[in-house]
Amino acid sequence: MKNRVSTLIPVKKVANSRIDQVDFNNLTFGSEFTDHMFVCDHKDGQWQSPKIVPYGDMSISPSARVFHYGQAVFEGMKAYKDDEGSVWLFRPDENFKRINRSSVRMAIPEFPEEFFFEGMKTLLKLDNDWIKKGVGNTLYIRPVVFATQASVLASPANTYRFMIICSPAQAYYGGEVRVKIAEHYSRSASGGFGYAKAAGNYAGQFYPTELAKQEGFNQVIWTDAKEHEYIEEAGTMNVFFRIGDTLITAPTSDRILDGVTRKSVITVAEDMGISVEVRPVTVSEIVEAAREGSLLEIFGSGTAAVINPIVGFGYKGEQFELPKLADSYATMFKEKIVNIQYNLADDPYGWRYPVGS
Ligand SMILES: *Cc1c(COP(=O)(O)O)cnc(C)c1O
Repeated sequence: MKNRVSTLIPVKKVANSRIDQVDFNNLTFGSEFTDHMFVCDHKDGQWQSPKIVPYGDMSISPSARVFHYGQAVFEGMKAYKDDEGSVWLFRPDENFKRINRSSVRMAIPEFPEEFFFEGMKTLLKLDNDWIKKGVGNTLYIRPVVFATQASVLASPANTYRFMIICSPAQAYYGGEVRVKIAEHYSRSASGGFGYAKAAGNYAGQFYPTELAKQEGFNQVIWTDAKEHEYIEEAGTMNVFFRIGDTLITAPTSDRILDGVTRKSVITVAEDMGISVEVRPVTVSEIVEAAREGSLLEIFGSGTAAVINPIVGFGYKGEQFELPKLADSYATMFKEKIVNIQYNLADDPYGWRYPVGS
C-alpha cells in the first residue's frame, strides 16, 4: 500500500466559530464538538488525501456496512494545555499503534502514521482555543474508522472513512462507584476481539451494565467468559486491586484491552517502589481479601478519568465496602500522571508529545 505523504493538509475553515456558544464551565462529557474535523477516505485500495473541514453532519448510505455489521474501531485520547499555553498529547504513539491493531482485527485497512499525526496536530492547532488551561480541562480526541461501502453483503468493505473529532471536557468525576462482579455476562472471549477498541465491544456492554444499574451498581467488573472466576476489566477501564501494599492487575491478552493508562500506572507504581504483580486475579482471592480486611483499594484506569476509585462491590448478592484511605494509591498515581500530562512535572519517560502553542 502506497500513501502520499502530505505535511500540508488542506483546511476548509468555518465561517463563524461556535466557541462563544459553549459554556466551558458546564460541559457534559462528549456532547460539544470543536469547529473542525479531520477526514480521510479509503478507496481503490489506498487512503486518499486527508482534509480538515467544518464539523458537521455528513451524508452516508443507509446500506453502509458499518450500520449493519459494526465494522468500526476508535480511539480515545486527550490534549492538555499547560500554564504557558503549550498543548501536549500523552503517549499518542500508543493510540496510533492500537488503532491499527484494532483495525487489523476488524479487517479494516491500517492508517498511515503521517496522516494520523499531521492530521491531529493540524486540527489541534486550528481548534487550539477550545483547549482550556488548568488541570482538569482537556480536549477529548476521538479518532474513529468505519466501513462506508454501500452494500449489505456480509464481508469487509472496500471503502472506509477515518475521522478525528474533538470534544472539550472537564475533569471527569463519576461519583462514588460501586461495581458488580459479573456472574453471567462477559465482554470478551478467548480468540475474540476484546483487545480491540471495536465499536461492538461497547454495544455489547450496555445491556448487562443497565441490569447492574437497576441493582444499584454503576458498572460491571467483567470476569472470564468460561468460569467467571478471573477478573478482567471494570466497565470500559482496566482494573487494579491493592491488597496490603501490593498492587495487582491482570495481564493483557486477547480478552483484555492494553490500556495506555494501565501501563502508565504500572510504570509509575514500580518507580515509587510499590510491588506490582501482573498476573491473573481471581474473584475468590478478592472476596477473601475483602472479608479479612486486606483489600484496601480497587480502581479503574482509562483516559477519560485517569483513575476511577471504586468504593465497593457486589458479588453473588453480597455487598463489600472498601475502606476510605487518606493516602490511597489511586490518588498518588493520578497526581503523578496528571502532572506529567499538564507539564507540571518532569517527564522521565518521554510520555509528553508536543503539539505547539
Ligand atoms: C479504552 C479502553 C480502556 C482504557 O484504555 P486507555 O488507553 O487507558 O484509555 C480499557 N478497557 C477498555 C475495554 C477500553 O476500551
